[in-house]
Amino acid sequence: MDLNFTPEEIAFRDEARRFFREEFPAELREKTAAGHHLTKEEMIRSQRVLNARGWAVPNWPVEWGGQAWTPVQVYLYQDEMQQANVPPPLAFNASMVGPVIAQFGSDEQKRRYLARAANLDDWWCQGFSEPGSGSDLASLRTKAERRGDNFIINGQKTWTTLAQHADWIFCLCRTDAAAKKQEGISFIVFPMNSKGITVRPIQTIDGGHEVNEVFFDDVEVPAENLIGQENKGWDYAKFLLGNERTGIARVGASKAKVQRIKQLAALETVGERPLIEDAKFREKLASVEVELKALEMTQLRVVAAERTAARGKPNPASSILKLKGSVIQQQLTELAIEVVGPFAMPYQPLEAGRNEPVIGPDYATEAAPDYFNYRKVSIYGGSNEIQRNIVAKAILGL
Ligand SMILES: Cc1cc2nc3c(=O)[nH]c(=O)nc-3n(C[C@H](O)[C@H](O)[C@H](O)COP(=O)(O)OP(=O)(O)OC[C@H]3O[C@@H](n4cnc5c(N)ncnc54)[C@H](O)[C@@H]3O)c2cc1C
Repeated sequence: MDLNFTPEEIAFRDEARRFFREEFPAELREKTAAGHHLTKEEMIRSQRVLNARGWAVPNWPVEWGGQAWTPVQVYLYQDEMQQANVPPPLAFNASMVGPVIAQFGSDEQKRRYLARAANLDDWWCQGFSEPGSGSDLASLRTKAERRGDNFIINGQKTWTTLAQHADWIFCLCRTDAAAKKQEGISFIVFPMNSKGITVRPIQTIDGGHEVNEVFFDDVEVPAENLIGQENKGWDYAKFLLGNERTGIARVGASKAKVQRIKQLAALETVGERPLIEDAKFREKLASVEVELKALEMTQLRVVAAERTAARGKPNPASSILKLKGSVIQQQLTELAIEVVGPFAMPYQPLEAGRNEPVIGPDYATEAAPDYFNYRKVSIYGGSNEIQRNIVAKAILGL
C-alpha cells in the first residue's frame, strides 16, 4: 500500500489549494471559519462559484458535469476545500439525489434535474427519516398510493434539513404495504410547493433553524416522478448512503478547526500567559491532534484501497471514519469552549442578521452554539451506535 502522492497528485493538490484560497470569495470562507451560518443566498452563490469551475459535482458521471477523478483526487479536493473553510456543495444535491438520478433515473429525468441540481437552481431536501423510523429506516410508513397517473402521498417526515429553503424533496415512500419492509419502498421526487405539504420548523438546542418536520396530506405527484423502478427504492437509498465514503470524516475541517483554536488560544490568557502556553491545555489539544493524525492515516489507507477497489460498493471502513471523525469534531468544540471560558456562557446565536452587541470578544460567539450544534454529528448519517454495530459485524466479524 503506497500512501505517497505522485507528482501529478501533488500538482492537482496545489491547483485545488490555489483555487480555494485565491479565487473563492474570501468573505464566504471567513464566515464559515468563524462558525457562522451562511444565508440561503450565500450558499447558492458559493455552490455556483464551484460549479463555474466544474467542481460542484465532481463525483457525477462526466456527461452530467462530473470529473472522473481518482479516489486520491476526490480526497485531495475535499481535504483542501475543508482546510480552506470553503462551504461544501449542498450534500442533498451533490452527493445524494444527483448520483441516484444519474445512476437510476430515465434520460428525461437526467435532463430535467441534473444540471439544475449542480448549479443549485433547484434546492433539494432529503425526506427519509420519520418519527420512529431513523436508524430503523426500513420501517417507514409514509404511503404513496397509485391512483391513475398519480401517486397520492400521505405521512410525515422529520429532521428534514433546510426544508424551509427547498424547491424539491426526494422521498422514500411505502408503495407496497404487503411486501417485506425493504421491498415495498419507492424513491419519489416532488416540488415542495405541491398542495398538501406543510413544513414546520424544529428549533434546535443551539437556537438555530436547521431541521424541520414535513407533513404530506393527499399530495398529488405525477407517476413519472418515480425514480427507477417501483418498490426498488431501498436499493437506491443504500446506494445513496454508501456513496459518501471518505469525506464524512471531515479531517480537513478538523485540521482547520485546530488551527483556529491555536490562533484564539494565543489571544486568550491564563494568569499572565497566553493559554496556548498552558501545559494542561497543550496536552489536551495535542491528544486530539494525535487522534486526528491517526484518522487521516486511516482515511488515506481507505483511499489507497479504493485505488484498486470496485466503484460504487460501500466500504465498511467508512463507518470507522464517520465514528472517529465525529468524536474528534465534538472534542474540538469542547476545546473551543475552553478557549473562551466564561464568554461561552451568554447565549449568542449565530443566525444571519443578528445585531445584538457581542459580550466578550467577537470570536467567543461561535463557541457555545457550535458546541451544541455539533451534538448532531454523532446522530445523523447513521448514529455512532449504528456505526459501531457495522464495524462489529462487517469488519470484526462478531
Ligand atoms: C441535525 C440533523 C439533521 C438531519 N437531517 C436529516 C435529513 O435531512 N433527512 C433525513 O431523512 N433525516 C435527517 N436526520 C435524521 C437522522 O438520519 C436520524 O436522526 C438518525 O438516523 C437517527 O435516527 P433517530 O433520530 O430516529 O434515532 P433512533 O433511531 O430512534 O435512535 C435513538 C438512539 O438509539 C440508538 N439505537 C437505535 N438503534 C440501535 C441499534 N440497533 N443498536 C444500538 N443502538 C441503537 C441510536 O444510536 C440513538 O442513540 C437528521 C438528524 C439530525 C440530528
